[in-house]
Amino acid sequence: MKMYDLEKLRFSNDLLQIAEQAGAEFHKVSANDYRSHCPLHGGDNKSAFTIYLDGGVQKYKCFTRQECGTGDVIDFVQKWLNISFNDACEWLGGEKQLNQADKDRIIKNRAIREIQRLEEATNKALQVLEELRQTETWRKYHETVEQNENYQQLWESEGIPIEWQNYWWLGYCNQFTVMTDIGKWTTPTMTIPIFTGTNWELQNIKHRLINPYKQNDKYRPERPGLQASPFFCSPDDMFDAEKIIIVEGEKKAMVTYLTLEDNDYQVIGLPGKNQWRNIVDKFHGQSAYVWLDPDAYADALEFSKLIGARLININMKVDDAINDGILTKRGIRNLLSTSRKPRA
Ligand SMILES: [Zn+2]
Repeated sequence: MKMYDLEKLRFSNDLLQIAEQAGAEFHKVSANDYRSHCPLHGGDNKSAFTIYLDGGVQKYKCFTRQECGTGDVIDFVQKWLNISFNDACEWLGGEKQLNQADKDRIIKNRAIREIQRLEEATNKALQVLEELRQTETWRKYHETVEQNENYQQLWESEGIPIEWQNYWWLGYCNQFTVMTDIGKWTTPTMTIPIFTGTNWELQNIKHRLINPYKQNDKYRPERPGLQASPFFCSPDDMFDAEKIIIVEGEKKAMVTYLTLEDNDYQVIGLPGKNQWRNIVDKFHGQSAYVWLDPDAYADALEFSKLIGARLININMKVDDAINDGILTKRGIRNLLSTSRKPRA
């Protein structure tokens, strides 16, 4: 009996390509999850079949038919061509493999499908956003606040006075349901609509969960699939301000803006720690100040170097420092004037 170097066969053959040769059409769900209809049993379910990495080895699994099963590239070729283990090894190591032209064609088709999928996702997000704009959901959430002193006080306790609650259309949602790893979870939320441009065009509604299932999972968008957009304290100015301070999150942006009380400054709240990469190309020559949370120093450093900004780094979150009375208007002005651009 012939011996095969199984390790070598597994690593020298791309299961993705071979499954595509068998008729799979993959879309990438995540870095480690490619989905397709199942090339072994056919069918229309475009998520029935996955290829993923298991300890560095590519594996496939069919979720809908037991007989397709699961396994590595050798198992796949056995099932696909209905041949023995030895014949599958022979096939994988032998001359029956794809030539370069076939490989190129398969890779090109995969790239085209990926572009189509991205376009579909973008169109869907735009559609969701349009629906959200038309239903004016943010108005309803805001009206709930306007009509109830308790909700106004809730926002005031976060450092946002009533007139500014109105200006930013801040709201309250009695029952908001999110998906968690234990299933659906319902909580009241504080809502922050995200607007841009002179017409205050709605980009998203951010929900801050009042009773989150997990303490570190407090923010959700109104609808899944909507793009995360930065919060502008002065939406009509967007990036057209001489001086821009970038902080983490909508609430920190609002509190910093209100404490600083200076119309020359725009304050932008990033929708998440890593979301600064999306806005790097918006900066040309404005005086920018990057002021992220203490645990995001590496991000803050990289971001400020890329946009030529000054870096502000204190050992507290800016809203905590303000709400605890440690940081006042004067303190912020001092930090701004003494901050430096990091050396490139
Ligand atoms: Zn199957």
